[in-house]
Amino acid sequence: MKLVSACLCGVNCKYNGGNNLHPYFVELLVMGEVIPVCPEQLGGLTTPRSACEISGGTGLDVIEGVALVINRNGMNVTKNFVRGAEEALSIAIRADVDGAILKRGSPSCGTGTIHDGTFTHKMIAGDGVTTAMLKQHGFQVWNEEDYLREKGVCTSIESS
Ligand code: SF4
Repeated sequence: MKLVSACLCGVNCKYNGGNNLHPYFVELLVMGEVIPVCPEQLGGLTTPRSACEISGGTGLDVIEGVALVINRNGMNVTKNFVRGAEEALSIAIRADVDGAILKRGSPSCGTGTIHDGTFTHKMIAGDGVTTAMLKQHGFQVWNEEDYLREKGVCTSIESS
């Protein structure tokens, strides 16, 4: 059993009210092999919501208190992101999952690359807040593209 970003299963939980549906993850959901979570909703943010980016570092820096998550309107939403990560971690521990498949690029779910905090589509190396917290607690995290490649499945999906 693994956690999966809910938007990959077709849940309309993206900031703009859309999703990142890929049929492979719906198949895993139907087979009971994944638990869909949306850390931003778990952290109390509404859908739709203003787009958010990590400012001044990575998800790990946010957890360590040296970077913030800011939305496009300049509002500090760091507490929501940390709370959402804690909720996702709690589910991972309770369900005893053996990893998580999370959406690349997201300030919560991003694995390996995230936006640089300038809202200019520039990417930097690093993980989102939830990914960083899961990794801190020993969980393996894949982004969806790497996971699909490992399984030999076509990676073509709607971009986030
Ligand atoms: Fe929610 Fe993560 Fe998908 Fe963003 S990438 S909508 S936080 S599940």
